[in-house]
Amino acid sequence: MTADPFRLDGQRALVTGARTGIGRAAALALAAAGADLVLWGRDIEGLEPVAEQIRALGRECGTVAGDLTDPDEVEVTATALAAEQRIDLLVNNAGIISRGAAVGISLSDWRRVLRVDLDSAFVLARCFGARMLERRAGRIVNIASLLSFQGGVNVASYTASKHALAGLTKSLATEWASAGVGVNAIAPGYIVTDNTAALRADPARDRAITERIPAGRWGSPADIAGAVVFLCSPAAAYLHGHVLVVDGGWLAR
Ligand code: NAP
Repeated sequence: MTADPFRLDGQRALVTGARTGIGRAAALALAAAGADLVLWGRDIEGLEPVAEQIRALGRECGTVAGDLTDPDEVEVTATALAAEQRIDLLVNNAGIISRGAAVGISLSDWRRVLRVDLDSAFVLARCFGARMLERRAGRIVNIASLLSFQGGVNVASYTASKHALAGLTKSLATEWASAGVGVNAIAPGYIVTDNTAALRADPARDRAITERIPAGRWGSPADIAGAVVFLCSPAAAYLHGHVLVVDGGWLAR
């Protein structure tokens, strides 16, 4: 263990969905803790402002363009990246939500959400996890949700994918822990990002959610970023298969 168990110097982290929200905050926090970064997003130009902020911290930062809707395409892009660079830490953060009554969900929309939120996380974990297993070192953090535990309202595909992502986290952790690879997840509560814009645009829903959160406020992406750094750090070396809830107390209520 390094002198400071929360430092990540000499490690390179790949963060998906790093242009905005939780992914952006996580990437910046990982860089502040000493990690070099590779940012993955659909829009490579959109990643550049985040990459510039990371380079200003004195860290290396590359960018990769990839649409996570097609797991076969993800595999090709990930394999090419893995051949070029050692990825020590993987943060499967990118995700989409589709809101609507279950009876109205088309199969194509259902599959789109599962492909981005679940299939791509598996493909990336498999690709980079295989190399981590060879090195007998590495950490993977999946961004799950309160909807890994609860049913949610009008979000069947998202809830199914986030329950499955928590299950995948535990399964990979069980398989890989003895080889020195740690797999864990974070379940954020209600966080102010584009993902939740529709909820906040509805004043009654916004108020009902805020009133139910023991902390009395929505979370910010920075509230999640510290947990990402922790789970990637030597301080969490003995954590395996844990889904860390960071929700202002929502689930405890
Ligand atoms: P966000 O700002 O909307 O971020 C989502 C990110 O996912 C975007 O940066 C986007 O990348 C990326 N993404 C979406 N579709 C993609 C695709 N097809 N290919 C590649 N990248 C794609 O929302 P967020 O809240 O930070 O979400 C981050 C994660 O936290 C998600 O997994 C979400 O489910 C989870 N989460 C959020 C909350 C919350 O309250 N906000 C709660 C629990 C869990 P581009 O910018 O490149 O399009």
